[in-house]
Parts: sequence; structure tokens; C-alpha cells
Amino acid sequence: MKIVLATSNPGKLKEFQALSLAAPDLELILAPPGFNPEETGSTFVENALLKAREAAKLCQLPAIADDSGLTVEAMDGRPGIHSARYCQGSDADRRQKLLLELKDVPIGKRQAAFVCAVAFVDSNGEELFTCEQHWPGQIATSESGSNGFGFDPVFVPLGEEITAAQLQPTAKNEVSHRGQAWRRFLNHLATQKSPSL
Ligand code: IMP
Repeated sequence: MKIVLATSNPGKLKEFQALSLAAPDLELILAPPGFNPEETGSTFVENALLKAREAAKLCQLPAIADDSGLTVEAMDGRPGIHSARYCQGSDADRRQKLLLELKDVPIGKRQAAFVCAVAFVDSNGEELFTCEQHWPGQIATSESGSNGFGFDPVFVPLGEEITAAQLQPTAKNEVSHRGQAWRRFLNHLATQKSPSL
């Protein structure tokens, strides 16, 4: 089955292809260059749906999108859906800003979670499946590790003593918000006969 992944980023396509090895019938293709819909939703699921619908409309194919971010309890859930735009600059700038904002928050009160929503729509933009998965943990007081991206070097998953950036990519995929959400989507596909596609 051919499905558009609602991104024009080849790195993201590779990541989701690696997560889909158990589904050999699934052919993921990229949205056209320049695909960059405005994320005006107020939840992760709303934003994933916006992206999926835009990709379905452009390509006249079923489309799948994800939207993700970091929620920090001591910051009332921020940066949340605004994680990618938490501040201008690089991922490293965003991590430094986060550590600074939390500098007076003691260990034990630094709970956080990565969140990933996935939305799957048919070629008319009709919603077929959505889900939201959380990966709980806490924010470290300094950076460690060089794998991954974004806030990985400051995120210590629950039950671990190392950051997400110190996990191997396959180990991260097994437990992460994105891995969990994607596996739920693959399960959905496997249990559907989807005549509407
Ligand atoms: P999206 O591309 O709109 O989903 O933005 C996600 C943003 O949330 C990224 O730019 C990162 O800042 C953050 N984020 C989401 N998932 C992860 C992750 O697995 N590791 C590190 N940062 C993440």
C-alpha cells in the first residue's frame, strides 16, 4: 500500500522506514519539496491531522503524519506543541534555554515526557486513525550523549540513568513515544481491510 509521509524531510522518511520493517507491504513516499503546512492546531493530534490532510490533498493518496514534542511538568506542559519553536536558533540553543529555565527546579521535580501523535487519513482527508503516545522521564541538569536529536541529550527516560542521546537508535525506537505511536499505527493497518483506501 502506498502512503504519503507528511514531510519533505528524507531523514524522517528513513527513520519511519526503519520503524516499518515489519510491514513489507507498506510503501512510504515523501510529500513534495517545500511541503510545510502551518501547524495551527492546539494539540499534537490536531497538528498531525492538519499535516496528513494537506499531504493527502497534494498527492491524492492516503497520508500519515506525526507531531511530537516535549512537555515539562514544572513548566505547565511547555514547550509542548511549540517544542520545535521553543526558541530561535539550534537544538543546542533550545536545550540550553530549557536547562536555564529549570535551573532552580530540584532533581525529583523535573518530570517530563516526550509525546508523539500519529494521524492517518484517506486520500479525501477523512480521518482513519489517530493516537498519542507518551515517553515519561525527567530533565537532567546537564547534557550527555551524542545520539538522537532535539532534547535527547537532556532527557533521562523513566527507569534509566542515561539520557536518550546515550541510547542506541534501535533501543530508543523500542521504547520511545515515536516508536510506540508508529507500532500502534502499523497494528491498525494490519487489522484493517481498508476498502476506503
Ligand atoms: P515536530 O517535527 O513538529 O514533531 O517537532 C518536534 C520537536 O520536538 C523537535 O524539534 C524536538 O525539539 C522535539 N522532539 C520530539 N521528539 C523528540 C525526540 O525523540 N528527541 C528529542 N527531541 C524531540
